[in-house]
Amino acid sequence: PTILGIETSCDETAAAVVRRGVDGRAIILSNVVLSQIAEHQAFGGVVPEIAARAHVEALDGIIRAALDDADLGLGAVDAIAATIGPGLVGGLLVGAMTGKVIAAARGLPFIGVNHLEGHALSPRLSDGLAYPYLLLLVSGGHSQILLVSGLGDYERWGSTIDDALGEAFDKTAKLLSLPHPGGPNVEAMAAKGDATRFALPRPMKGEARLDFSFSGLKTALRLVAEAHAPLVDQDVADLCASFQRAAAETVADRIRRALARFRERFPEIAQPVLGVAGGVGANADIRAALKAECESAGARLVAPPAALCADNGAMIAYAGLERVEAGRTDPLDVAVRSRWPLDEKSAPLVGHGR
Ligand code: ATP
Ligand code: MG
Ligand code: FE
Repeated sequence: PTILGIETSCDETAAAVVRRGVDGRAIILSNVVLSQIAEHQAFGGVVPEIAARAHVEALDGIIRAALDDADLGLGAVDAIAATIGPGLVGGLLVGAMTGKVIAAARGLPFIGVNHLEGHALSPRLSDGLAYPYLLLLVSGGHSQILLVSGLGDYERWGSTIDDALGEAFDKTAKLLSLPHPGGPNVEAMAAKGDATRFALPRPMKGEARLDFSFSGLKTALRLVAEAHAPLVDQDVADLCASFQRAAAETVADRIRRALARFRERFPEIAQPVLGVAGGVGANADIRAALKAECESAGARLVAPPAALCADNGAMIAYAGLERVEAGRTDPLDVAVRSRWPLDEKSAPLVGHGR
């Protein structure tokens, strides 16, 4: 089948067309992403109302561009998938309504996709990973370690008890007066810095449970920054590098334990696989730390290209594709949900916001 996917849960307006090829692999026919960074930059973060308006203005054109890039008309599309949660309600409503209207007008099935499922399945989209695998989801709103056992079958092994890792990058950037969004800007500054100059904590390191905590790291960074004020460019670069190294080592420590637990659970799997998803997954230092960890554990790291780590429509179309193939489409009155944990066992309620 050929699926049109729509993503509007945060500050990217995105649409894509993904198809299952005859050889069984998924093919990304198009993947169009319009970032709203410029609209939000002056506010140092995403403003929900501005985001929703921008989605309204952009979405029709983005969908048309996705179909044009794929060289397809709507007649060649078999189902419409749109993110219905979690995320900012205004944006979710725009994407869900648009998807539902196209589905209704064309008589096509509709799939309301969990944004986090899109992230979780993206290593299958990029590399055709088989279930089960371990997933590190590190994005603007989430930091989780998940066991992905099948479509809709997710076990959360750990999550952040305070800030998400992307959020910690964004707050670090703000503190150091770097532009929003923080991740890429912190990474660029870190490349010019000395990661050993400032001693920052590795929160939760050595603890048995698989949770994350990043607010202590952020606070430690703030105290060091204040102690060295006024900061010159080299200080900022060194702070970014030290922060990024602390983040990478913290994540690697959690993953070491998660891989050990995966081995206990699946002794028959000779080479466990760790998939990475979410915008922070694009960070080269973090990828390198994960790669080293996987190598020493005899595991394989699958980190999709940066464009598939960050928010995009292809991951939503792909989640829709797997759901269509499993016969799990949704009624047109399926509701958007601002909160929607991936490991929730019950199916989403129909017709109610919850
Ligand atoms: P969620 O998926 O949890 O709802 P989101 O969709 O906003 O949140 P993503 O778009 O997946 O999150 O990721 C955005 C986050 O990734 C931002 O916090 C951004 O700073 C961070 N990020 C992007 N690129 C990098 C990078 N190179 N290094 C570190 N962080 C990065
Ligand atoms: Mg985003
Ligand atoms: Fe996301």
